[in-house]
This record gives sequence, structure tokens and C-alpha cells, in this order.
Amino acid sequence: MKIAIIGAGFGGMAAAYDLRKAGHEVIIYESANYVGGLASGFKEPNWDWSVEKFYHHWFQSDSSMLGLIEELGLKDKVIFPRPYTVLLYNGKWYPFDSILKALLFPGLGFGLDKIRFGFVGLYLRLTNDWKSLEQYTADEWMRKYAGRKVYEKMWKPLLVGKFGPFYRDVNMAWMWARLKARTTRLGTFEGGFQKFADLFADILREMGVEIRLGTQVKFIKRNQARPEQSRREKGLLVDAGGVVDSYDKVVVTTSPNLMAKFAPDLPQNYLKGLLELKSMGAVVMVLSLKHQLSKEGYYWFNLPKDAGYPMLALVEHTNFVSKEHFGGDHIVYAGDYLEVGHEYFSMSDEELLERFTPALKKFNPEFSRDWVKKVWVNKTNYAQPVPLVNHSKNIPTIQTPIEGLYFASMSQVYPWDRGTNFAVEIGRRVARMMLVTNK
Ligand SMILES: Cc1cc2nc3c(=O)[nH]c(=O)nc-3n(C[C@H](O)[C@H](O)[C@H](O)COP(=O)(O)OP(=O)(O)OC[C@H]3O[C@@H](n4cnc5c(N)ncnc54)[C@H](O)[C@@H]3O)c2cc1C
Repeated sequence: MKIAIIGAGFGGMAAAYDLRKAGHEVIIYESANYVGGLASGFKEPNWDWSVEKFYHHWFQSDSSMLGLIEELGLKDKVIFPRPYTVLLYNGKWYPFDSILKALLFPGLGFGLDKIRFGFVGLYLRLTNDWKSLEQYTADEWMRKYAGRKVYEKMWKPLLVGKFGPFYRDVNMAWMWARLKARTTRLGTFEGGFQKFADLFADILREMGVEIRLGTQVKFIKRNQARPEQSRREKGLLVDAGGVVDSYDKVVVTTSPNLMAKFAPDLPQNYLKGLLELKSMGAVVMVLSLKHQLSKEGYYWFNLPKDAGYPMLALVEHTNFVSKEHFGGDHIVYAGDYLEVGHEYFSMSDEELLERFTPALKKFNPEFSRDWVKKVWVNKTNYAQPVPLVNHSKNIPTIQTPIEGLYFASMSQVYPWDRGTNFAVEIGRRVARMMLVTNK
């Protein structure tokens, strides 16, 4: 078969790997001039490692990603340092990334609330019945079982931070997935995620996969060629700005909105399903600083929205991996999940830095503007799918109603939360489906 894959993120590349291994001709279209998609990174001339545009790490439970890395012979390049995640209580930061640390956290007192917190956490780690949980919103389920205080202190800030105005609508299976599939140790690739993406792309090219960078797909259509035309004509046409090629099968790995634009010939109910899926965008500033921001060496600060910070997360990357990889620069992320249309999307980098600067002093009173060497602001409309009650009924099928056209995106890895691990999982799943229905 001749197969086109739209998108050279980890989903698209994982699908390409298995399809090529099975002997098919595979061409990847990628609109950017680099591979890696949302997990891609960038590098200053004095850095040995790249920095992800949006903060990224792996969990030890990311078996699809770690399994693929092992297959590619790159296992020795994965490192799992032990950075510190902290939570705010009464103006002080407390470590909060293991069961022991959670039990010692003073924000819940040491009575019944802590016991409820512990039991709910344990239940969610042990149960696999997410189908029952998705019938409830996380807001109602947590209030009922964890109790108002535990919910409002621990879980509500997480929901509000990630989902903003939709926080009351998110289902409990999302919360379950978060607790189920996360570990204390966090991993990365020596050289950064971009290094891994580039090595993966090199391996694919050596296998014979063609990766067309800087090539934006506009339309995917059924090939209306009449039977008497050349036998080389395939079932689907991919139009990349006037250059049209025909394929037996096509996999799209972009957002549902883009999928609906590429293939307006999809039946109305499938298009409607794509367009009704909700998601949040993200705006993330990367700063290179002359000095360390968190003197305590904390990596990840969870910032409750009601504590008045202008961002959701502050992440000091060089408290996770050494500043030596970045020519001694200290790398800090300040970011938020936001609805598209939020003012941060239209602010200039300078305006956003103005907005964030006073908050940076709260992490280190000595911080001043002249610590900032450079900033980069990264924005995406499609960062975080929002799963509503009974969401499993709304997931678009991977095999679309158009024969040979497949869709495998972040919005379909449910009940799991999006992540590179699940991009690999769904990429390999779509490849398996295509191979089974190989005609
Ligand atoms: C703020 C933030 C933090 C995150 N943190 C983590 C984390 O810590 N750990 C983790 O594992 N994951 C994290 N993720 C999620 C992770 O980045 C994604 O789940 C994963 O990269 C998705 O891969 P994908 O291949 O499905 O999609 P994408 O990476 O989005 O790939 C789709 C590709 O399609 C390309 N494309 C779009 N339109 C066209 C077109 N018209 N023609 C051709 N190509 C096109 C895009 O350029 C892109 O390269 C984070 C994401 C965000 C936004």
C-alpha cells in the first residue's frame, strides 16, 4: 500500500514506523520545518540540549513510549531524575509528589480529611472501572467521596487550572486517569525531546519513509478517477497546496478542527462529532535567566488560580536537568491552559513578560528584570482535550466513514489524558488497524 500520514508528531512517526516495517510505502506530510509536533523543542547556539517549547517529561508508567524507545535501541538515552513538585499552603511551598509527601502536607490537617484523601487516592489507583466514573463530573464525585475541603484544597485547583470555565464539566474518568498513570520520577531524553524526535526521524528515513517537511496539507478527497484510468490511481488524494498525490490510505494526526477542514466530504454526523469536541489552548513562556529562580531547587510549582498568579504552572527546567546543558543558563517556563481568544493569545512577548514579572519575584524576592536574558512565547490552540460526562460515546472513530481515511489524535486517547506516550500508543494502534484491513 501507499500511505500518507499527516503530521510528524510522535503519533504520526509511530504509525509510520510500524507501517514501513510491514513493507508499505509511507510518506509523512509535516507543515512545520521540523518533526516532533507539540513536543518539539528549540536550541540557542550556546546550548547542547534543546528545550521543549511546552514543558515535557515522561512518567515511568509511559510504557508505550519507553517500549518504543527500547525497540529503537535508544533506551540508554532516557534519564529519570527525581525533581521536586511543590504545592502552596499559607504562603509556603510544600513538596507534594509522593504518597508520603501528600500525607505530610499540612493543608488538610491530620484528621478525617487526610484519611478521606488517602482512601480516595487509593481507590482511584486500584480501580479500573473508569466507565462508571465517566458518568459523573469530577466536581460532583470528588465533593461526595473526598469531601468539600479535600476537593477544594487539592483537586479543584487542578481542574480550574487545566480547564478554566469548563472545570465543572470535566468527567471523573479524567481525574482517575491522572492518578492512575503518573509516577514521582520524571523522565526525559538526553539532549531533549527534540533530539529524540530527530533521531526517530533519521531512523524512519533510513527505513525508507519519506518525510516532507514544510508541506502543509489543505485537502483530502476521495479519488473520483474512473476505473478505466491508470491502475496506479489510488483511493484518496492528498492536496498539499496544489501538489496532489494519490494514496491507498491516509492517517491524520492533527486537531479535530483541522481534520474537519481537510475532509469536508465526511458525513455530517462525523463532522459534527469532530467540531463538538472541546479543547483548551496553551500559552507558555520560556525564559532563560542568569540566576536560579528557586533557591530550594524546586522543579514544578502548582499554582492555584485563586492565589493570584498570572500563570498556572511555573517550571524551572534546570532544576530537573542540569544548567550545564544550556551553557549555564537557567531555564524557566511560565504557562497556562486557556480558551482560544484569551488576551494572552494576542499579547506581545514583551507585554506578557510585563504581566509575569511581578509574580516571578514571589518565587525569589531577589529576582529582577535584568536576570532575563531572553524569552520565547509559544502558543497553541489545541493543547488539552476537555472530556465531558459520558465522553466515551463522543470519541470519533479512528477509521472514518471514508474508506481508507483514518484519524488518530490527542482527542481519541481517552480515557487517558493526552501525552506523547498515548500519541505513540494511538499511532501504533492505527497502524495495526490499517494492516488488518489491508486490501
Ligand atoms: C503545554 C503542554 C504540556 C505538555 N506536557 C506533556 C508532558 O509533560 N509529557 C508528555 O508526554 N506530553 C505532554 N504534552 C502532550 C504532548 O505534547 C502531545 O500529547 C503529543 O505531542 C501529541 O502528539 P501527536 O502526534 O498526537 O500530535 P502533534 O504533536 O500535535 O502532531 C501533529 C502534527 O501535525 C502537524 N500539522 C498540523 N497541520 C498540518 C497540516 N495542515 N499539514 C501537515 N502537517 C500538519 C503539526 O505541525 C504537528 O507536527 C503537553 C502538551 C502541551 C500543549
